[in-house]
Amino acid sequence: MNKNLTFFIILVAVGLSIFLGIALGRFTLNKLSVETANSACAVTMTDIIASAQGDVYVIEGDTEFVEPQSYYLVTYSVEGDEIIEPFLEPVPNNLADEQKDIALQTEAWDVFTTIVPAQDRQMLVQYNVFTDGNSNTLAAVDQNLEDPSKWILEIDIADLADRDALLFTLIHEYAHLLTLNATQVIPDQEIVDDPMNVAMLEEKAAACPNYFAGTGCSYPNSYIHTFYNRFWVDINDEWKKIDALQYGEDDMLYFDGLYSFYKTHQDQFVDDYATTHPAEDIAESFTYFVFAPKPTGDSIKEQKIAFFYEYPELVQLRENILNGACSLKE
Ligand SMILES: [Zn+2]
Repeated sequence: MNKNLTFFIILVAVGLSIFLGIALGRFTLNKLSVETANSACAVTMTDIIASAQGDVYVIEGDTEFVEPQSYYLVTYSVEGDEIIEPFLEPVPNNLADEQKDIALQTEAWDVFTTIVPAQDRQMLVQYNVFTDGNSNTLAAVDQNLEDPSKWILEIDIADLADRDALLFTLIHEYAHLLTLNATQVIPDQEIVDDPMNVAMLEEKAAACPNYFAGTGCSYPNSYIHTFYNRFWVDINDEWKKIDALQYGEDDMLYFDGLYSFYKTHQDQFVDDYATTHPAEDIAESFTYFVFAPKPTGDSIKEQKIAFFYEYPELVQLRENILNGACSLKE
């Protein structure tokens, strides 16, 4: 039914970096009234949300977006808080210094483990350090090819300087782990083995009695099934027609289509990237849930943020993430 999940997980980071470049400072946050008592933390939250403002699908000029070359530098196994057994990938000479910079690679990992508590990231078994240069993709997650119940976190070592954008992206990526892990969506080895097999995906989607999340069939009480049922049923047919455009010749048709879909339904999405896919919508909404104040209005996009407050374990997780994020700023 859908594209390779890796594609859209990675696309968010591409998008984030695109809009970070064009939109910083364009957005004023006078509507935010931060509820936390800790004023340093309130500033941190505001900064992190500000780092993610802009329109991903507004691409300037007529030229097609060309994705830069990306290289894996080092892959680590994850054991609790530790990263072990570094494996050095073959890289061009100009990346040799970055590849040897274990201190920086560890620093990036430490940022992630500081904001996401150990008990909430047990699905992670691997940490990949990559780079596609400054900006572009900041981070990504992917399923382990041998065991799709296990997951991989990937961070671009060239993108640590913009800490606010990194924190926003890491929590967005973490939201994929939270909503697609094996307690939420049934891992499917056949999909991991052949992720672009559209006919197979359509067959699996048709056989799934709950929301089919791209990586597999979700459980009836999963976050993503509940979220989809509440917020996507009415708009899914319209969205699917636009989503299909990405398989056509012209990427711009797809990007323009999504952006106009966003403009039509702007009260329903926290930002335009959230229209990419229901799995991206829940990830982006979760990130706003973490870093934005609790919504006071009743628009659908505010309902999407408020959705996560229905789960006590996620309210606790939010507090832990914020404590971690704010401790990094001290
Ligand atoms: Zn994503």
